[in-house]
Amino acid sequence: MKKISVIVPCYNEEESLPSFYKEMQNVMEKMKENDFEIMFINDGSKDKTIEILRDFANNDSRVRFISFSRNFGKEAAILAGLQNVTGDYVTLMDADLQDPPAKLIEMYEILQKENLDIVGLKTNNHKNYGFMRKFLTFCYYKIIGLLSSVPMSPNERDYRLMTRQVVDAILKLTEYNRYSKGLFNFVGFDTLWLTYDAPNRAHGKTKFNFSKLFSYAIDGIVGFSTRPLLISSFVGMLFCLIALIMIIVIITKTVIWGDPVSGWPSLACIIIFVSGIELFFLGVMGEYLAKIYLETKHRPIYIVKETEKDQK
Ligand code: UDP
Ligand code: MG
Repeated sequence: MKKISVIVPCYNEEESLPSFYKEMQNVMEKMKENDFEIMFINDGSKDKTIEILRDFANNDSRVRFISFSRNFGKEAAILAGLQNVTGDYVTLMDADLQDPPAKLIEMYEILQKENLDIVGLKTNNHKNYGFMRKFLTFCYYKIIGLLSSVPMSPNERDYRLMTRQVVDAILKLTEYNRYSKGLFNFVGFDTLWLTYDAPNRAHGKTKFNFSKLFSYAIDGIVGFSTRPLLISSFVGMLFCLIALIMIIVIITKTVIWGDPVSGWPSLACIIIFVSGIELFFLGVMGEYLAKIYLETKHRPIYIVKETEKDQK
């Protein structure tokens, strides 16, 4: 009997959890030939999430949970799940039912039949996200596509079913700065993508605000590309070249026509422009430096406060 582990990161999901669990029960009912383990990760929720999870675990031995001491983010929750589940197959699902549990049945069948390592889901409709988020996401994936050699797509959801071998490979990537989309694609393996229409969030609001998404985006770029550093060198060289040409032009003009003092406004513009570029690339370098600093500290990625074993 093969065991399937379901990892569910939860941050303030008290409204979604009951319907999510109900859907999962239906799926487990239909997949009787499999053992199940549902691993909820309570990522420092401030609502009643932990009480609901304790209750699930008390009544159902297939339910497990890990509760963090504070909000460490979805990436940390995914890592905690992957490190602690015991299944032969592992899947990740959001608690808000945007990753419909019922899809698992189809994913498992295909994984078995086609002898694949990963079956993932892609969606083309992001209708539930606002125009600005859709636009920025589109631009971001265009940029990261140019910068990184690891392929990434805005349509790939984190919802995927993987074999134990894939999970072990991901766990070998021990970096502090974790960006799952990149990590999953970095390890490779035979992957099949199914396309589906992602439903709207069942209850509540998105748990990602602009600043969370922005720092997640920077993590992705810094974690999976060093090209921004190369670009800064190129821009530096380009500006040196332009300066050289300008020097030659000015010397020639002065020698031939003399030296009337003029053009200070354009000079001011050039100084401001060049210092802007300099500061920007200093910032880019600073981002990489900051990431190295964080990596060398070897701080834990998450801290566990409670698990289902602490019950009773
Ligand atoms: N989540 C989490 N920690 C966070 C933010 C989100 O564990 O700091 C979980 C959240 O509870 C949900 C999943 O990550 O199960 C995806 O979050 P959400 O649906 O809000 O993201 P969106 O669909 O808007 O990208
Ligand atoms: Mg969602």
